[in-house]
Amino acid sequence: MCCAKATVWAGYTRRVLPSPEPVFISFLIPMALIVHKYGGTSMGSTERIRNVAKRVAKWVRAGHQLVVVPSAMSGETNRLLGLAKELHPNAIDEAAQRELDALASTGEQVSVGLLALALQAEGMQAVSYAGWQVPIRTDSAFTKARIEAIDDSRIRADLATGKVVIVTGFQGVDAEGNVTTLGRGGSDTSAVAVAAAMKADECLIYTDVDGVYTTDPRVVPEARRLHTVSFEEMLEMASMGSKVLQIRSVEFAGKYRVPLRVLSSFTPWDIDLAEEAASGTLITFEDDEKMEQAVVSGIAFNRDEAKIAVLGVPDTPGIAYQILGAVAEANIDVDVIIQNVSKDGKTDFSFTVNRNEFARAMALLKEKVAPSLGATEVVGDTRICKVSIVGIGMRSHVGIAARMFKALADEGINIQMISTSEIKTSVVIDEKYMELAVRGLHRAFELDQDNAPAT
Ligand code: ADP
Ligand code: ASP
Ligand code: MG
Repeated sequence: MCCAKATVWAGYTRRVLPSPEPVFISFLIPMALIVHKYGGTSMGSTERIRNVAKRVAKWVRAGHQLVVVPSAMSGETNRLLGLAKELHPNAIDEAAQRELDALASTGEQVSVGLLALALQAEGMQAVSYAGWQVPIRTDSAFTKARIEAIDDSRIRADLATGKVVIVTGFQGVDAEGNVTTLGRGGSDTSAVAVAAAMKADECLIYTDVDGVYTTDPRVVPEARRLHTVSFEEMLEMASMGSKVLQIRSVEFAGKYRVPLRVLSSFTPWDIDLAEEAASGTLITFEDDEKMEQAVVSGIAFNRDEAKIAVLGVPDTPGIAYQILGAVAEANIDVDVIIQNVSKDGKTDFSFTVNRNEFARAMALLKEKVAPSLGATEVVGDTRICKVSIVGIGMRSHVGIAARMFKALADEGINIQMISTSEIKTSVVIDEKYMELAVRGLHRAFELDQDNAPAT
């Protein structure tokens, strides 16, 4: 960053990085409205919370209005859900899921209180709100609720009096007043939804990596940071399992055109504001942003799915509807789907669901769907994972999927299921080969090379 130069143009700044990618930033709008989101690791101790407070205070002192959305301290949501599991190992009915949400939401409640206190200790005026106090209205799908509306009047009134407003991530309230949560990683979605509702100038997602990489840098140390990633690619990467952003946050950003950037909270809090605002990865909305699109921009993987197969179902019209209709009615999301070629008038029907909905889906299929269809058996496998290659350039290049299959074959990895879209190809494989597959594909598509899109 030392040799980057910034030029001001019509109130905006175009920062010319020592890379082929000029990065457009909006932070120099005077008195911008900015949403900051801090993840669990960034909020992981009182020392880190103090750093967050100092960073936020720096932005406020530069003249901006700040709404801050923190996650629970790292490990806290897992700890709370672990306690729940000890007392009720099979909390799959609605009454139990309601209580899981009441419990899990407390992690963020602690974070907002601590951050408000830390900001006040920094001499800032700060006020914290739980989701229900804003309110952030959601539907009633406990543990994976969707945000329906946000009333920003209270936040706006506070900002107008010079306060920093801190809003819990991950939670909302349904029409009956029940506390709901938005699914794991949901604080990203809270932050982007608040930014969308308030038409914020930018939403900055501070996390423990310094941007979006070609793949998870914890799995492939050679992974490279992308300076920009198109919204479409980010959407696919998030939906294919890249945990750096929750999928719904990307959907919100796309729908409401929220300027979104992923950056590190581990830089010194007092680094130059211009440098900080131009760091990380910018999610862009322009397809032609890059001179030449990389064929594959990133590799995502997901260990959170499980495979279910309904065996020996009669191969007649309406089978897919009868199986998947029942699953959808139970509000269980289905991902990769395969129907085998029929033999003797019978076929097998397989699909993947999220692992934490596996037990519910299996019970439903075994008890209700299979008997009514006359299926022979319902079998499940939780030891699978899905690995995907993602890139806008796949649209205009042929043979990319074949190259992927060759790379997997070279590693001796068997493919169980395949699914494709215009800009991604996914395979379901045995979980034990996940890292091998991701590393092999990263190499095969030369994502660690100098000509990779990160440079
Ligand atoms: P937070 O607690 O800040 O929300 P998360 O753990 O949810 O952080 O997301 C950040 C993590 O996402 C990183 O530590 C990294 O291991 C993982 N990750 C997965 N895929 C990617 C990717 N393509 N680029 C960067 N990070 C990724
Ligand atoms: N605390 C929640 C979780 O661990 C939400 C989040 O961190 O985004 O999933
Ligand atoms: Mg996260």
